[in-house]
Amino acid sequence: MENKANHCIHCTVKSCANHAKTSNYCVLDTVSIGTHECHPTVSQCVDCESFVLDTCTDGKCSVK
Ligand code: SF4
Repeated sequence: MENKANHCIHCTVKSCANHAKTSNYCVLDTVSIGTHECHPTVSQCVDCESFVLDTCTDGKCSVK
């Protein structure tokens, strides 16, 4: 399946099911960004809450 990269959302998280794979972009129209901290101060405090673990590796999906 070919995913359409959204060039407005750059992302390098290839383990996410929403990653374009062939380029470092997300395929979603929008993403939700949040934090797991009370008072975020650095980028490591911030999360993409639209992340979904990709169960596929090397083009082959694992059994769910
Ligand atoms: S949902 Fe978030 S983590 Fe996943 S590809 Fe899109 S921007 Fe990256």
